[in-house]
Amino acid sequence: MSLGEFDLIAKYFTRPVRRAALGIGDDCALLAPAPGMQLAVSSDMLVEGRHFLSTVAPDRLGHKALAVNLSDLAACGAKPLAFTLALALPRADEALLEGFARGLFALAEAHGIELVGGDTTQGPLNICITVMGEVPAGGALLRSGARAGDDLYVSGTVGDARLALEVFRGNAALDAHAFAAVREAMERPQPRVALGVALRGVATSAIDVSDGLLGDLGHILRRSGVAARIEVDAVPRSAVLAAQPAALQRECTLAGGDDYELVFTAPPAAADRVQAAARAAGTAVTRIGRIEAGQGLRLVDREGRDVAQTFGSFDHFKD
Ligand code: ADP
Ligand code: MG
Repeated sequence: MSLGEFDLIAKYFTRPVRRAALGIGDDCALLAPAPGMQLAVSSDMLVEGRHFLSTVAPDRLGHKALAVNLSDLAACGAKPLAFTLALALPRADEALLEGFARGLFALAEAHGIELVGGDTTQGPLNICITVMGEVPAGGALLRSGARAGDDLYVSGTVGDARLALEVFRGNAALDAHAFAAVREAMERPQPRVALGVALRGVATSAIDVSDGLLGDLGHILRRSGVAARIEVDAVPRSAVLAAQPAALQRECTLAGGDDYELVFTAPPAAADRVQAAARAAGTAVTRIGRIEAGQGLRLVDREGRDVAQTFGSFDHFKD
């Protein structure tokens, strides 16, 4: 016998809330933000065939659906509080629901946050999560704060998720061990929440890399009215990616997407505080260039020679 809508919500998604004033079961959830804090809110939708492949394991899908949302809070320096889940499912597939809920709640618990509501409907598989976090009033990291002279940084390594996609597409080949590592980056990204919080009051601007390093950095440059120079060989990458042909490395690191690392700026005088924040968060950060006056993005190699820029950024209505 198949599970009804309300049984499904009760069985897979209803957990007691500890922090919210009211969780699942009424017409609204109720949250009580602490005095002096602003609520940071962000939504991200995942559509089958567009954001994930039908081959992804359900627990990884649950993880990623929440991870990409937490990454947006990280980019604002917000501390996650709660989230809602709007889910369209072709049918009440309990194997999918069990795995999905397991991956989702494992990441939620790792960040101490709770599911407070949502919506469930029959339809093509589609997952929309809205996260809410808190940040001291006026203290959020914005895209608009970069200033000429600031250093430019990226967290972790970038490009592995794109390399995994190229393997799925048949454009690259890896041994089983290397493939498992890059597939992990694609399917189980780790949102840099602790780093975002540690960078409050240190970074002048930030964004998370979902559509490719250059494209997402472009949003900072436009919103801040500045230019940037990137040392393309300084962009951090995994050992697996570093063993690939040079052109593929550049494509994956600069235009890859799905990285969920933070790109941010800070004045040179704050360099020690940036590294202290990175240590506190347990996430490496690498300086990859600097912000300049003007507009546009200049790419240079190790010798300071210009590198032709032929990369785009992912756009749902163009790609
Ligand atoms: P309404 O008809 O008022 O929109 P619903 O019947 O859709 O309410 O949902 C009942 C309760 O279950 C609400 O509190 C809603 O927030 C919650 N809910 C529905 N779907 C989900 C879900 N996928 N995850 C978490 N909570 C959900
Ligand atoms: Mg509803």
